[in-house]
Amino acid sequence: MPLVSDRCVCLRKVAYSETSQILLLFARDHGLVRVIAKGAHRTTKAGASKFGGGIDLLDLADAVFTHDPERELSTLTEWSLREGHLELRRNLRGMYLAQYAAELVAMLIEEHDPHPELFDRLEHTIKELATPRAEEAFLAFELDLMRETGYLTELVSCVSCGRDAASSDATFFSPSRGGVVCRNCETVIHDRIGIDARLLRLVQSIMRLPRSNGTAQRLPRLTRHQTDPINRMFAEHVEHTLGRRLRLPKYVLDFDAG
Ligand SMILES: [Zn+2]
Repeated sequence: MPLVSDRCVCLRKVAYSETSQILLLFARDHGLVRVIAKGAHRTTKAGASKFGGGIDLLDLADAVFTHDPERELSTLTEWSLREGHLELRRNLRGMYLAQYAAELVAMLIEEHDPHPELFDRLEHTIKELATPRAEEAFLAFELDLMRETGYLTELVSCVSCGRDAASSDATFFSPSRGGVVCRNCETVIHDRIGIDARLLRLVQSIMRLPRSNGTAQRLPRLTRHQTDPINRMFAEHVEHTLGRRLRLPKYVLDFDAG
């Protein structure tokens, strides 16, 4: 079977037998790939295994694996760690956001469907999550991910009547309709949740910024007070669309503050 090499981020890991791991990797040029790392936890007299004693969530590496899109599981043969994110691992908020970004990528991208630009954005965003720019970096990445995968919601025009919903202060969001709802249409939509129109305008202004890996540098400094309601709105939309619960929002979103 042909071997390919690619730059990868580990999005999910489960132990498999005493010594092996099954991983979901986001590979820059191959998209989502499931691999087995045989012997990842085995240590030898010479020291750790060829996978350095185990691969961790969010680790970035140059990997070599078997490649056959017909098979569900590829075999990982090499893993040269480039970045273990030691600084991020000491930052609880940054770690939760990074794990949430990984969860969203794993849920929204199809297997074996390459998204190299999104990969570069994720790699860069994980670095920024260890800095004071974590909130805006995460939000900008989340918007890019949803735009690229077609999950972006309607944020300007009321999904019921088409009016500009952010122009009045009372605005709502409907997870089932996948967009904002104006005050006039509020009563006909049953799963509406209130959202501050100033936050919607903020999201719109972020979306108008040209995209690059330096995007967070140009964003306004945001706080959780601003980003939690926006992140919650998108989480509810994704959960409704996929029909399953996301695991990380309960760690990322401060539901008591809402
Ligand atoms: Zn309306």
